Amino acid sequence: MTQAKVLILDMPIDNMSKTNLLNIVDNELEQREKNLFIVTANPEIIMSAKKSPSYRDSILQADFIVPDGSGVMMASDILNDSLQEKITGYDLVHSFLSYANDKKKSVYFFGSKDGVAVDAAINSIKLYPNVRIAGTKHGYSGHGLDIAEEIAATKPDFVFIGLGAPLQEKWAAEYKHLFPNSILMGVGGSFDVLSGKTKRAPQFWLNNNLEWMYRLITQPVRGKRMLQLPVFVAEVYKQKWANRKVYVKRERHT
Ligand code: UDP
Repeated sequence: MTQAKVLILDMPIDNMSKTNLLNIVDNELEQREKNLFIVTANPEIIMSAKKSPSYRDSILQADFIVPDGSGVMMASDILNDSLQEKITGYDLVHSFLSYANDKKKSVYFFGSKDGVAVDAAINSIKLYPNVRIAGTKHGYSGHGLDIAEEIAATKPDFVFIGLGAPLQEKWAAEYKHLFPNSILMGVGGSFDVLSGKTKRAPQFWLNNNLEWMYRLITQPVRGKRMLQLPVFVAEVYKQKWANRKVYVKRERHT
């Protein structure tokens, strides 16, 4: 079955529900026929990919690119091609942990500062006691083939890659062939939250699509990165006008 996609700044985002994605993951882990590489694309990732063709190529190797956050949902609305459901990386981490808990699957935690991946794994077992921890490794002792082989040797069902963008998607694209039966996903700073090192925005901010503002207030160092957001919105409007021009031209020719 081919998946419906919405093109946002040249990035094909899968228009699917989280339930649908979880069913596909379940099916894949039962059949054991191939691996799955999932990208949760936020505006920063889409903007970086627009500037870097090699990063874009890495992302395009993913089996699924899902909309991480309200910025991408809003972009699809602006383009009159609304995506059906926001699927954030952090929510997917919990959905996969919950699934792994039910099915006794294993998870490898790779990335973040020394000690953080371990704490994230420990807290995960507190929440989901039947999850098997395939291993943990912090993200500052190299990201090369030797590390990838070491992680692959544990034969994890899930590989959570918390190296941040663009490193995590590049790493997954480069080494996914070593993981024939795994689900690989970049999880950004999720281990920092799972470990308790940083706090996620309270529900009020999440409900009102203000997570970005909460992060800006609590982590002002992110300010420079967040300047990408208005640029992203401007680029989306540019795409909208460009699409409209093509549409009007086509109308004239028919
Ligand atoms: N990180 C890492 N190795 C590196 C660079 C970054 O493990 O060489 C980790 C960093 O410690 C943090 C994560 O990658 O845990 C990136 O988090 P960030 O909050 O920037 O990602 P976001 O959630 O915004 O995608």
